[in-house]
Amino acid sequence: MELTLGSGVRELPGIGEARAARLEKLGLATVEDLLRYFPRDYEDRRKHYTIAAAPVGLPVCVAAMVAEPPRRSYVRKGLELTKVRVVDAHGSMEITFFNQGYVKNALVPGESYIFYGMVEGLPPRRRMTNPVFEPEDRPRFTGRIMPIYPLTAGISNNLLSGLTLRCAQDCAQEMPEILPFRVRQEHALAACGYSYQNIHFPVSEEALDLARRRLIFEELFYLSCGLAFLRSRREGASGPAFQRESLEPFFALLPFALTQAQQRAIREAAEDCASGRPMNRLVQGDVGSGKTMVAAACCFLAWKSGWQAALMAPTEILAEQHFRTLSGVLAPAGLRVGLLTGSMRASEKKKVRAALAAGEIDLLVGTHAILSAGVDFARLGLVITDEQHRFGVGQRSALAAKGGGLSPHVLVMSATPIPRTLALIIYGDLDVSVIDELPPGRTPVETFLVGEDKRARMYQFVRRQVAEGRQVYIVCPAVEEAQPSPEGVEPPPGFADLKAVTAYAKDLQEGVFPDLRVGFVHGRLKPREKEAAMAAFAGGALDVLVSTTVIEVGVDVPNASLIIVENADRFGLSQLHQLRGRVGRGKHQSYCVLITSNRNQETRARLKVLTQTTDGFRISEEDLKLRGPGDFFGKRQHGLPQMRIADLAGDTRLLKEAQEAAQALLAEDPTLDRPEHQPLKEQIRRLFTEHADIFN
Ligand code: ADP
Ligand code: MG
Repeated sequence: MELTLGSGVRELPGIGEARAARLEKLGLATVEDLLRYFPRDYEDRRKHYTIAAAPVGLPVCVAAMVAEPPRRSYVRKGLELTKVRVVDAHGSMEITFFNQGYVKNALVPGESYIFYGMVEGLPPRRRMTNPVFEPEDRPRFTGRIMPIYPLTAGISNNLLSGLTLRCAQDCAQEMPEILPFRVRQEHALAACGYSYQNIHFPVSEEALDLARRRLIFEELFYLSCGLAFLRSRREGASGPAFQRESLEPFFALLPFALTQAQQRAIREAAEDCASGRPMNRLVQGDVGSGKTMVAAACCFLAWKSGWQAALMAPTEILAEQHFRTLSGVLAPAGLRVGLLTGSMRASEKKKVRAALAAGEIDLLVGTHAILSAGVDFARLGLVITDEQHRFGVGQRSALAAKGGGLSPHVLVMSATPIPRTLALIIYGDLDVSVIDELPPGRTPVETFLVGEDKRARMYQFVRRQVAEGRQVYIVCPAVEEAQPSPEGVEPPPGFADLKAVTAYAKDLQEGVFPDLRVGFVHGRLKPREKEAAMAAFAGGALDVLVSTTVIEVGVDVPNASLIIVENADRFGLSQLHQLRGRVGRGKHQSYCVLITSNRNQETRARLKVLTQTTDGFRISEEDLKLRGPGDFFGKRQHGLPQMRIADLAGDTRLLKEAQEAAQALLAEDPTLDRPEHQPLKEQIRRLFTEHADIFN
């Protein structure tokens, strides 16, 4: 049967309904899908040896003839052996298969096969266990570089390789060449058919490198073109034009002078807001760099021009804190600030919604609740999201959509330090302001890594800090906070750990600090209890706050000078850095103690990084190295189209090259309307509409 790219997998030999359903799970319905399903690794099966010459302990191919009928024996229930002797011109070898009964009939005496596996023992006692084998005259999976695919239950690598081999042979050359010829030529990229052939079954390492380079480049190139499109579309859209106001009246509201970096970020945002085009700006600054004041300045400008602003935070604790801070700064000027969170009483929410729709609230601070249906603004001109890495692009755009016809200005604040070039890609079409300066008078948080043996001394240290009037956080890895959201969120993992926080707080209060005021907070508390605990701590009514990572993002209690992290080895470095940012926010020398009973050298070396630097960029680089980008960026958090082969964090050199190529091409044909660019335009549209959220 003639295969084409559009042929269904059922047309491939050996694929019935059941297997087709399993392939479907991997997203594989057609020949084209199979060709686009890339190996995650390769196995070099090219080395051939005679039985006598095969090295011990390396997987190799050995061609040999089956010398006798295979012998099957049952050892016990669940364990069955099949043994067979094979020979070549120079020697013989015994092969043992475990629980592979079919081998008895598959290996025919007198026939020659290629066996791929690890040879053990010295001649004349050479052995092999569970090798891959196939007839010598029809090799498919030996004698070459074999692909290794991501799999699912019921689909073996051999099965999948058989399919991709057939597809590559019959159809790789049919894959449409979408990259413009000039781009391929200028960047020395292999042809499309060659690349699809060699990404699955490379004829050599060099061929594999060429294929990979082309396919990665291609993917990054489409991404770059798509993002450039988004940007130009935004530049063509119109947003609320704020008046160019003096910021002096805003500065006068503040108890401190803003840093140069804060002022620069504010100027950049103010310029965006006055441009008549919708702002889309990322403010990136390490923990404690004072991003909130940039938000406040923008809200002030919106209000001056008669627009409403919304600020969305990822947790209730944070939303409430922003509400307090922003009311404190802006209410004296006359701004009416409202709060909307999921846990508020229905009647309160109703009041807020009505006031909002009537234009009686100038700034609404809240959680995801702001996104719910029925929350309507009278004149939404500015949307701010805090700690963007917890929000998907989709949610951001849902909020932006509440602006009615006009696209409101969007400001995103993040402490996740991502290298700038990467941020531009990850955050799509955002402009970036970096706050690279901390407010004056901060002394870096001193960080210590200690073992259990120091616990008693650590408690003494807590006492000393409290005696000096300071406050202390103690963080346990337990429940993660889940936000009540309109879409509904799964229960958090580690629910059983819940007890840890409460029990630990109780033990501390009763056993260690009977004379201190110990409170606790975690994401599963009732909102009111949570709020009460946070307010008590912020107001100085608690000395020690035991908590989960709910305090991770943005919580601001300047009097807190010590944070202790229990089981520190269970956290990522960036997360620990965030946690550490909870202290050192006031004028007091602050400390972070990471306690772990883990003696693993690597773990300790990893944690040591935090004792050596407070530079968020360096820490995130370390994290990236150690944990890999998948983990770092989370699952599709950025909301970009999923990459099949490119690694946004790892392939930065190619990324840059692809970006430049995209810019060069779009400079010549900004709308990609030339006939030779039609396939490219179609490809970009497909890529981005599969993930339509980025288009909103
Ligand atoms: P983050 O960037 O982590 O969100 P915040 O906006 O919460 O940081 O600011 C951290 C702390 O620094 C807050 O207590 C804030 O009031 C204070 N702060 C912000 N800007 C300045 C400044 N220019 N001078 C002094 N303190 C500042
Ligand atoms: Mg913050």
